[in-house]
Amino acid sequence: MSVTGRCLCGEVSYEVTGDIVATAVCHCDHCQRQSGGAFSVNIVAHASQLNVTGTLVTYGDRGDDGGDTVHVERRFCGTCGSPIVSELMGTDGVIAVKAGSLDDKSAVKPNVEVWCEHRQPWVDLPGMDVSIDRE
Ligand SMILES: [Zn+2]
Ligand SMILES: [Zn+2]
Repeated sequence: MSVTGRCLCGEVSYEVTGDIVATAVCHCDHCQRQSGGAFSVNIVAHASQLNVTGTLVTYGDRGDDGGDTVHVERRFCGTCGSPIVSELMGTDGVIAVKAGSLDDKSAVKPNVEVWCEHRQPWVDLPGMDVSIDRE
């Protein structure tokens, strides 16, 4: 299967090919800050499955521990700021494509949620098979 998506302004578009690993909701503080929303919805796949057209800007997210190690490379459109994909460092290329940027959202069905300790108090999502406090 393959899915396509784009940023708000259209300068960046992409295709994800092959089977995805999972669709995961992330409640972490940094996803909330980056998206401006209550949580992020992520198509989890491998970097080799993603084909991007256009130029993404990368922010090296160092996480909450205040150290120098980049835990997540967050990539977004430099023109409109839409988050497109995050790459998890130290995982051999696991990526999280932001489901809000998909062209066809009819197949999006998250069943995993992570970083529940940062979940906003009003959020109670249906259909979750796995809920994990941290990542
Ligand atoms: Zn854009
Ligand atoms: Zn997150």
